[in-house]
Amino acid sequence: MEKKRILITGAAGFLGSHLCDRFINEGMYVIGMDNLITGDLNNIEHLRANPDFEFRHHDVTTFVDISGELDYILHFASPASPIDYLKIPIQTLKVGALGTHNLLGLAKDKKARILVASTSEVYGDPLVHPQTEEYYGNVSPVGPRGVYDEAKRFMESITMAYHRFHDLDTRIARIFNTYGPRMRLNDGRVIPAFIGQALRGEYITVFGDGSQTRSFCYVDDQIEGIYRLLMSNYNEPVNIGNPTEISIKDFAEEIVKLTGTDQKIVYKPLPKDDPQQRRPDITKAREILGWEPKVTRKDGMKRTYQYFKNLPTEELYKKEHRDFSNRNRK
Ligand code: NAD
Ligand code: UDP
Repeated sequence: MEKKRILITGAAGFLGSHLCDRFINEGMYVIGMDNLITGDLNNIEHLRANPDFEFRHHDVTTFVDISGELDYILHFASPASPIDYLKIPIQTLKVGALGTHNLLGLAKDKKARILVASTSEVYGDPLVHPQTEEYYGNVSPVGPRGVYDEAKRFMESITMAYHRFHDLDTRIARIFNTYGPRMRLNDGRVIPAFIGQALRGEYITVFGDGSQTRSFCYVDDQIEGIYRLLMSNYNEPVNIGNPTEISIKDFAEEIVKLTGTDQKIVYKPLPKDDPQQRRPDITKAREILGWEPKVTRKDGMKRTYQYFKNLPTEELYKKEHRDFSNRNRK
C-alpha cells in the first residue's frame, strides 16, 4: 500500500520538527516546509537522510506548489514567541493570513485534510477562566500582540469558511503554552529565557509582579493531542494544553530549585497586553479525543533542562543571530 503523504509547514521549528518525527513514526511520507525565519535546520538534521522525509525551503506566504498526492496538511508555520512576532510583525500577519489561505487552497486542490495551529492567544487577556472553546476572547486588534492574535483569529475564520463553503475537511487546534527540547534558547519565551539565565548565572527576570499565570504542556503530550485531533472527525476548535496552572513568580522559584543554582529573581516591567491568567478547559479534548496530558511539569522540566544543559556552551552565549533586517520586513 502507498504511504500516506503529509505536508508539515514550520517543520524546522520546535513543534513542527516533533510533528515530522511523529508522522514518520506513524508510517507516513513527510514533506517538511520552512523558510527558517525562526526555525533551525538542526531540529531536523536527524531526518535529512530518511527516505520518508524531504525538506522544502519555502515561504508559505507565496504560492505553495506540491506535485503528486497529499493526504494531510499541518499548518504550523508562524513566529510563536512574543519577542519574535514583535520583531517581525508583518511576516506574522502574512503567514497567519496569506499562508493559511495558500494552504487551504492546496488542501482543496489535493482533497487533503488540513489542521491549522491556532493558539490560546485568540482568547487575548481572558476575562473567562479557565478558557473554554465557547469564549470569544478579549483581544486588542491594535496592541503589540494584535499581529499574532488577529492573524490566528483570521486563520480560524478562513478555515471554517473553507469548511462550510467548500466542504473542506478541516481541524483547528488551540494550542496553549507548550515547552520541551528544540525550543530556541534565545526566542524570549519564558522557559528557555529562565533556563538560559540560570545556566549563564544571570538573574532570573520576572516581568511585572509575577502574579500572571500560565499552564505549561510538555511537547510529547501536545503532539499526541494534535495527532488525535487530526485523526478525529471534529471540525470546531479544540483546546490542547495542560490545565495545571502556576504563577510566573512561583515558576521562577521552581527553576531556581530545578537548576540547583542560587539565582536571584529580579522584576522587570510587564509587557503591554501580557495576559494576566491562562488555563485551558480541556473537557472537549477529553471527551472527543480521549486525550489529556500525562507528563507532569516536574518531569517535563527535567527533560527540558537536560536538553538545554547539553547544548554547546557557545549556544548559551550566542545573542540573537537571526536576520530580522529591513529586507525581511515586507
Ligand atoms: P517556532 O518558531 O519554533 O516554529 C515556527 C516555524 O515556522 C519556524 O521554523 C519558522 O521558520 C517557520 N515559519 C515562519 N514563517 C514561515 C513562512 N512564512 N513560511 C515557512 N515557514 C515559516 O514556533 P513553535 O513553538 O514551534 O510554533 C509552531 C506553531 O504552533 C505556530 O503556528 C504557533 O503559532 C503555534 N503555537 C505554538 C505554541 C507553543 O507554545 N509552542 C502555542 C500556541 C500556538
Ligand atoms: N516572562 C517573564 N520573564 C521572561 C520572559 C517571560 O516573566 O524573561 C513572562 C511573560 O511576561 C508572560 C509569561 O512569562 O507573562 C509567559 O511568557 P512567554 O513569552 O513564554 O509566552 P506568552 O504566554 O506570554 O505568550
